Amino acid sequence: MMSHFGTNSERTRDYNRRVVLETVRLYGPISRADIARRTALTAQSVSNITAELRTAGLLKEGGRRRAGRGQPPVEMTVNPDGGFTVGLELQPHSLVGALVNLAGTVLAQVASPLRASTPAGALPALRMSVDDLLAQAGVDRRRIIGAGVVMPGPFGVEGLSSIGPTSLPGWTGVDAATILGQALDLPVVVENDATAAAVGERLHGVARDLRHFAFLYFGTGLGLGLVLDGQPYKGALGNAGEIGHVVVVPDGRPCPCGNAGCLERYASLHAAQEYLGDRGVLVSDPAALGHLWDRGEPALLDWLSEAALRLRPVIQMLENIFDPECIVLGGALPDPLLDRLIDLMHPLPRSVSRHPDRSVPRLLRGSTGRATPALGAAALPVFQTVTPDFAMVAREGAAAESA
Ligand SMILES: [Zn+2]
Repeated sequence: MMSHFGTNSERTRDYNRRVVLETVRLYGPISRADIARRTALTAQSVSNITAELRTAGLLKEGGRRRAGRGQPPVEMTVNPDGGFTVGLELQPHSLVGALVNLAGTVLAQVASPLRASTPAGALPALRMSVDDLLAQAGVDRRRIIGAGVVMPGPFGVEGLSSIGPTSLPGWTGVDAATILGQALDLPVVVENDATAAAVGERLHGVARDLRHFAFLYFGTGLGLGLVLDGQPYKGALGNAGEIGHVVVVPDGRPCPCGNAGCLERYASLHAAQEYLGDRGVLVSDPAALGHLWDRGEPALLDWLSEAALRLRPVIQMLENIFDPECIVLGGALPDPLLDRLIDLMHPLPRSVSRHPDRSVPRLLRGSTGRATPALGAAALPVFQTVTPDFAMVAREGAAAESA
């Protein structure tokens, strides 16, 4: 049974609110007694917290389930319209956004090219995207609990952040969450693209039933999102999964990070563009790769073989280190290319993942496509930062609506 354990101390009430909300989101309609069982919180704590979350408009009573004799217990569900969140993904040349309700239903989406991804270029564009999402969904700004913003990592690493074509220029030494929060006039959670994509895939995609998985995310570079024991794993500084800069070819292709032979110099969108460019084939964006695939471009097939060759040992390494149920590949590479890449990696090297009672393949293609990180990001404000402030925002919003 999957559980999110709470703790019975007043000081950790914020944390417990998140745990209860997450449990209801995943298992609702669910009775208070079952919430207590799954979270290991006392019946009294669950009763207090569900009452608070109901007052804040985040939970509602969802009827009674008939079971056995006597009065069946009242069950709780997430109140879908109790609040809304925004997810935004900032890439070097594009911006993707989504607005979802508390149940995770997507109410509006935007995607637009981006001229400059520096703070000066990106902040107004992000602000416009949020306005566009609110207008599309017909949602009042005051009902937005917060925004999750996805940016390529790593964050705050000397010589690795904001360097090279796969990162965002101008964000070094910048407190991204603060300036984004000011620009958007919303509380902002910042997350790297691969982790947000993994969360998106877990909420909306192929990883829905997986508790332990790794997500290889093809952005412009290559990232790794880890979901361990049902939770995204971020590392001490939020930089876990920076797999693009793991050296796979000693003395290989020089990398802007200062090392040589990094994985994303071989297996990433940028590597594909470069490989094809060196052979006289110009690739402007991921969609162009799809067209090249459709017409059977030989250089593209060669690149896929090279990427598969460099990824195979990394798959085996990840399996032996993390023992995941599955490794998911997704992101900006078109689906047919991801499928071929997975084919080309077979037969996979032996690892702890090679056992007879597997229920899912060792490698899966992600299913939610280009919007995955934005969708994952949209979940972050609720499930990482439900604080009394946010409850107040929701309450004010509810009052504003009924007024
Ligand atoms: Zn590197």
